[in-house]
Amino acid sequence: MVHFSANPDTHEHPGRRSNETGQILRVAVYAFLINIGLAAVKTLIAVVSGSLAITAGAIDSATDAVSSLVVIGGLKLSIRKSESFPYGLYKIENVISVIIAIFIFFAGFEIVREAFSATDQPPSITLGFLGWLSVGVLITFLFGRYAIKVGRRTESPTLVAEGRHRQVDVVSSLVVLLSVLLNYFNITIEVFGIPIDHLAAGIVVIFIARAGWELLSDGMRVLLDASIDPGTLATVRKIIESEPMVTEIRWLTGRNAGRFCFLETDVVMRTGDLEKADQISRHIESEIRKQVPHIERVVIHYKPRPREYMNIALPLADTTGKVSEHFGEAPYFSITRLRVADGGIERQEVVANPHAQLPKAKGIRVAEWLVRQKVDVVGVKEDLRNKGPAYVFADAGVEVHVIKNDRLSEAIDSLPK
Ligand SMILES: [Zn+2]
Repeated sequence: MVHFSANPDTHEHPGRRSNETGQILRVAVYAFLINIGLAAVKTLIAVVSGSLAITAGAIDSATDAVSSLVVIGGLKLSIRKSESFPYGLYKIENVISVIIAIFIFFAGFEIVREAFSATDQPPSITLGFLGWLSVGVLITFLFGRYAIKVGRRTESPTLVAEGRHRQVDVVSSLVVLLSVLLNYFNITIEVFGIPIDHLAAGIVVIFIARAGWELLSDGMRVLLDASIDPGTLATVRKIIESEPMVTEIRWLTGRNAGRFCFLETDVVMRTGDLEKADQISRHIESEIRKQVPHIERVVIHYKPRPREYMNIALPLADTTGKVSEHFGEAPYFSITRLRVADGGIERQEVVANPHAQLPKAKGIRVAEWLVRQKVDVVGVKEDLRNKGPAYVFADAGVEVHVIKNDRLSEAIDSLPK
């Protein structure tokens, strides 16, 4: 009745997830290329036009290119095999991002100083510059939407954050575009003696400061503590343990990359069915994502283990071994531990049904209780098909068999093995 896998190797959550990680990585690489491209184009236009606002825009894009690079590093690291986390390399990456963040603050400070300094020539804007900057805004806007879409589909908080950031960039780019547009039409507006080009630069510095701060605080967070806090790990452990098919958590580790969290675990499941095991590991993953924020990736290695014992539950009418006609209402349950190898009884106990007196939904309560007792097989006289308890059992991988016998020992013998 149980199909044991001949190969007790560790199975990683296959196919779909590694595909998705590749996809997430690809979008992160696009983000980097777009940001570095925008930074280059803006730098060129800034130099030729002499616009302080465009200079600020160039620094903004350069900052974003650096943070995209950090994201790529984190994702790349998550793909590597777990046993050899290159923690050293990982920290160097964060040291670099902290140093770059400090440079960014200096650059921002320079822009602010420049903004308040005496006005020189207004920037010389051509229609071509306007066109290039507009294309930049459009690309940023479209890419932001794309990143969010892929991020939602792959459940990647990193990509969703990346997309949101691009949307913020659209706003700062529009500020630059507006000031450039006004300059193009020779409309001169001054606020407290500050020309519009400098004013726009000052506004963009706020965006730069924000991005720089994120880079700095994420980098510092990792440098100060690369591991996940014990509270989060305990939560994750509890989620995995609550899965009835999981018999053992061999190890569980976690790592932070900025605000994002990478988890890896190795569990033993009491099933020989790989498909079932994969389904369970997916369920565990989605539960973790539901309860713990900013989970970027969960890698679950599982070892399907052939059962040594089989726990059988049968509803009893009394303590002498008379099988009950009912399931939820049965006053007692027998739980029999059978050796799979020779079919011998290892242990047998009769327990009072703790939910027999419930006014309603007792069937489901009883099923849940039996699942918690790590029962593998349930024999019933009542046909449970399409009823609540059947779904509870199916969900937990517990087999349900209809029995005809009145005596406990005969009923156990009649069950398929
Ligand atoms: Zn930005």
